[in-house]
Amino acid sequence: MHKKIIIIGAGPTGLGAAHRLKEKGITDFVVLERNDHVAGLSASFQRQGYTVDIGGHVLFSHYAYFDEVIEKALGGQYLQHQREAWVWILNRFVPYPFQNNIKDLPPEVMWECVEGLLDADPTMPTNNFDEWITAVFGAGIAKHFMRPYNFKVWAQPLKDMAKSWIAERVSVIDTRRVLRNIILNQSDSSWGPNNMFKFPLFGGTGGIFEGISKGVNDFIRLNVSVTQTHTATKTLTLSTGETLTYDQLINTSPLDQLVLNSDLDGVGKDATKDLVHSGGYSVGLGFNRQLEADKRTKCWNYFPETNSPFYRVTYLSNYSPNMVPDIAKQFLLMCETSYSEHKQHSASTIIDETIQGLVNSQFIKPEDVPLIEFKDLIDIPYSYPVPSLNRDKALETLMPLLQSHSIFSRGRFGQWRYEAGNMDHSFMQGVEVVDYLLDEKPEETRFKN
Ligand SMILES: Cc1cc2nc3c(=O)[nH]c(=O)nc-3n(C[C@H](O)[C@H](O)[C@H](O)COP(=O)(O)OP(=O)(O)OC[C@H]3O[C@@H](n4cnc5c(N)ncnc54)[C@H](O)[C@@H]3O)c2cc1C
Repeated sequence: MHKKIIIIGAGPTGLGAAHRLKEKGITDFVVLERNDHVAGLSASFQRQGYTVDIGGHVLFSHYAYFDEVIEKALGGQYLQHQREAWVWILNRFVPYPFQNNIKDLPPEVMWECVEGLLDADPTMPTNNFDEWITAVFGAGIAKHFMRPYNFKVWAQPLKDMAKSWIAERVSVIDTRRVLRNIILNQSDSSWGPNNMFKFPLFGGTGGIFEGISKGVNDFIRLNVSVTQTHTATKTLTLSTGETLTYDQLINTSPLDQLVLNSDLDGVGKDATKDLVHSGGYSVGLGFNRQLEADKRTKCWNYFPETNSPFYRVTYLSNYSPNMVPDIAKQFLLMCETSYSEHKQHSASTIIDETIQGLVNSQFIKPEDVPLIEFKDLIDIPYSYPVPSLNRDKALETLMPLLQSHSIFSRGRFGQWRYEAGNMDHSFMQGVEVVDYLLDEKPEETRFKN
């Protein structure tokens, strides 16, 4: 069988491409998805009356086009929340960004952070993320928050990571403001331009993409995996044993897998060695009691300390009451742990380690443990595309090589750029690649910093 365009993957990027193709009146295309559901990493699952996401997903759309699509997909069935992020450290909540709220730390830790800040020199030349952290935040904040927290998120030595991706992703520092907050004892949690987010009333984050997929369902084939890509003949081999030919291929599966399972050799396969990623465990825990009233507006908490495996815990049931069987009787936490060869964890023990970490850090009390009535684990082998030192060099080799074979690799792991790897970026990359293929309109989102 032949299709003008084949899309690998029905995650946000694949759905963005499919949505745009249909909108443009193109019907000679198919989306191949190996799972039995759409939404990829942005999927949600209903289990025992609870709804779990794959890690804490928050939608901060930068695009009017995507906003309109979401509005239609959800038909007004969503809630809006103010982002309320915290750092849980030394048995207390410190508002995020950490550096603006060090007034909430014990005096000796606060002084360590201030002293470091006075010595910091953001103009100092730096070669990697680790050096950049000390130059910008100083030794104290680096020691107590930035270094340990970022190692937990990325599961990579920070000296092996580039600093070019940082832009708006890491809240930087204004020393005058930090000192003012300490002296005037002011809390300061304003960061970034967009502090409201929408969350589906039903179905978790996945509800957004299930809604979007309804418009393009006729073009999606579920439970079909692409096992081999033959660039010489523009042919795909599928898990069903079929072969399909294409004029143009939009890939949203992990770039290294696409290349390694293809007839490309030499330079292409070598370049994949420089693509680094971490995996993740997302542990959902449902508690058989109501959440304390003073925690019901909180969104998520960062965990820099080593007494817990996870880097972030989200109050998922605060996003929608329908994430639990009965919001008057239960609440749901989602705890995310990254793993790699540098930070090893096991699927067989991570749930217990997570519960122990919640107790160790005194985020929950020991008497809460018997109240955990729902325990869920999602393994995410490809969770974070790491901005490693050689990533850009690898992409400079791989992207033109693939394009010369009419393969356009886009999305979180399709083009491996964390800085353009959120849901809104991914969906828009799908839309924009279609505009490029049909009208040669230049793409913007995939180059975003
Ligand atoms: C822990 C975590 C937290 C996140 N938090 C946020 C957040 O707060 N806000 C935000 O905006 N974004 C967040 N994201 C990012 C968001 O999940 C991604 O932006 C989005 O899902 C990427 O879409 P995609 O289509 O590019 O890739 P994916 O979602 O990975 O979809 C790719 C699809 O391709 C399919 N596939 C792979 N290989 C094959 C094959 N060989 N054959 C057929 N199908 C295949 C997969 O099954 C999958 O469905 C988070 C991601 C993670 C992992």
